[in-house]
Amino acid sequence: MTESRRTLTVMVPCYNEQESLPLLFERMDALIAESSKADAVDYTLMFVDDGSSDNTRPLIKEYAASHPYAEYVFLSRNFGKEKAMFAGIEHTHTDGLIIIDADLQDPPELIPQMIELWRAGYDDVYARRRSRDGESWLKKATSRWYYDILQRMAGIAIQKDTGDFRLLDRKCIDALKRLDESERNSKALFSWIGFRKIEFLYDRDKRAAGTTHWNYWKLFHLAMDGITSFSTAPLNIAIWLGGITSFSAVVYALVILVKTLVQGIDVPGYASTMMVVLLLGGAQLLCLGIIGEYLGRIFKQTKGRPNYLVQEEKINDSEQGTPDP
Ligand code: UDP
Ligand code: MG
Repeated sequence: MTESRRTLTVMVPCYNEQESLPLLFERMDALIAESSKADAVDYTLMFVDDGSSDNTRPLIKEYAASHPYAEYVFLSRNFGKEKAMFAGIEHTHTDGLIIIDADLQDPPELIPQMIELWRAGYDDVYARRRSRDGESWLKKATSRWYYDILQRMAGIAIQKDTGDFRLLDRKCIDALKRLDESERNSKALFSWIGFRKIEFLYDRDKRAAGTTHWNYWKLFHLAMDGITSFSTAPLNIAIWLGGITSFSAVVYALVILVKTLVQGIDVPGYASTMMVVLLLGGAQLLCLGIIGEYLGRIFKQTKGRPNYLVQEEKINDSEQGTPDP
C-alpha cells in the first residue's frame, strides 16, 4: 500500500473476562502481526478493565509487560460497559479506534476489512449482524422493537442490529469526547454525531467463554435510558392523556345533564365514580413518574460527577506512532 501509515487503537472493555482473555490475546497478536504490515497500521491494544473481581487485571498486566503495543486503564470499580467505553474513548490518542468485545463475539479478523473502508474515507465503519446465533427468539424480537421505538421517538436514524463493534475516525472520537453526558447510550450517540458512516455485514459469534453480563432487567434499563435521553416524547403523554380525559369528562357531564333533565333526578354510580377516580389517579401517577424520570436525569447531570474514576493506567507515549501528515 502506498498510503501513509496510520495509528489505530483496538479498545477492549473487560469485566470478569479471565476465560476469554487468553484466546483474545492469541487472536489479536496474530492479527496485529499480520495487519500492521499488510494494512500499514501501527496498533495499540487498549484494555479498559471495568472493576473486574477475577483474574482479569493480573492477566492484562502480564500481557502488557511483554507487549509494547498494549495499554490499559483500570477503573476504580464496575461502572458498566458504557462508562468503560467512554474511558477508552477519552484515553485514545491514535488516528482511529476500534471497539471490540472481550468475549470474541466480534471476530478480530474483520479488522483489515474495516481499515480498508476507513482508508476509503469513511469515518464510522460499523458492523451489522447478519445473524444472531445463540440468541433466543425473545431477545431478537425485543431488540427489534426497541430499535423501532427509539428511532421513532428520537427522530434520528438509529442503526439496527449493530453493537459497539466499529471503527471510529479521529473526528468521531473527538466528537464523542465532547458528549460527556452522565447517562450514556452509545448506540444513540454514535448515530447522533453523524459523519460518513458505512455498514458491513458480519456473523456474530457465540461467546468464546464465560457468561453474558446482561439480563432483561439491565436491558430494560438501557432501553428506558435510550428513550429518555434522546427524546422528550414521553412527556407528551401527559398532554394527550389530559386532553382525552378532559374531553371525555365534558361529554360525560353533558350525558348526565341530559339524563337528569329528561328522566328526573337520578344519583346512581358508585362504580362509575370509583372507575373514574382510579383511572385518573393512575394516569396522574404515570405522568408524574415520567416527569420524575427526566427530573432524575437532570439531577444526575447537575451533580457533574465524573463518568468514571481510574485506579491505574498504562498509556504509551502518543508520539510513538507515526501521525498522519
Ligand atoms: N462489560 C463491561 N462492563 C460491564 C459489563 C460488560 O466492560 O459491566 C464488557 C464485557 O467484558 C464484554 C463486553 O462488555 O467485553 C460485552 O459484554 P457481554 O458479552 O456480557 O454482553 P453481550 O455480548 O451479551 O451483549
Ligand atoms: Mg458478549
